[in-house]
Amino acid sequence: MSLDERVALVTGASRGIGRAITLRLAQDGARVAVNYHTQQEAAEQVAAAICQQGGDAFVIHADVSQAPQVSAMMEAILERWGRIDILVNNAGITRDGLLLRMKAEDWDQVMEVNLRGAFLCTRAALRPMIRQRWGRIINISSVVGAIGNAGQSNYAASKAGLLGFTKSLAKEVASRDITVNAVTPGFITTDIVDVLSERLKRQILSRIPLSRFGSAEEVAHLVAFLASEEASYMTGQVIGIDGGLGMG
Ligand code: NAD
Repeated sequence: MSLDERVALVTGASRGIGRAITLRLAQDGARVAVNYHTQQEAAEQVAAAICQQGGDAFVIHADVSQAPQVSAMMEAILERWGRIDILVNNAGITRDGLLLRMKAEDWDQVMEVNLRGAFLCTRAALRPMIRQRWGRIINISSVVGAIGNAGQSNYAASKAGLLGFTKSLAKEVASRDITVNAVTPGFITTDIVDVLSERLKRQILSRIPLSRFGSAEEVAHLVAFLASEEASYMTGQVIGIDGGLGMG
């Protein structure tokens, strides 16, 4: 799949799934803006790896929940490359806890990063995409947004919110050749999953038909497809990548 000449922004790209997506899009030929919030060094390593392979990438700081920072990030991309073709809303956080004990700040923080962040980045990318009459927006939701998970009501609500956001926006911008899709990973081996106890991991594994956690690279393959020309007739879709965990 060739993404030559395409310009991509991946949020939360310094590690985990975002890092794998960034490396994959670059491998397919895209120029990639590597967004980070706190881990500058890790983000720089991602960009350096891409440049060493003959690709083009630069790191860019922004807290995706802060509108002025998101605007500045988009301006920097447009100044450097003059366009934005692919936006991957990947940045996400968890603040787990049972609802009765959940602090309002834990609810708000999760909504601000996972949902408001996607809204702000998408709004900033949309005008140039409309001008170009081409765009690919890919929202990283979660299987938990579809099936729920005890202790993650805030996270699940934010990820379910992304699905409504995806479908509504897909209808708004389809006439401009901009597609908007969501992927719903199951349990993928990254920092988010590493912190779970061995007992909980065993319990989860017993519910996954493929009997294993996924890899960030497997998610990246799917995102690269959705970002490509080949996915031109797909919009407003929610695609599961979860070893079968979320099937109905
Ligand atoms: P991770 O914690 O390794 O990565 C999250 C990234 O988001 C980090 O780079 C972090 O710095 C960044 N980030 C957090 N707050 C930010 C902010 N305010 N502004 C900019 N960046 C910010 O987790 P991951 O597992 O790689 O998750 C990536 C995405 O995939 C998340 O949206 C997560 O909800 C989703 N997801 C993960 C799994 C899984 O099993 N790992 C499953 C389903 C969905």
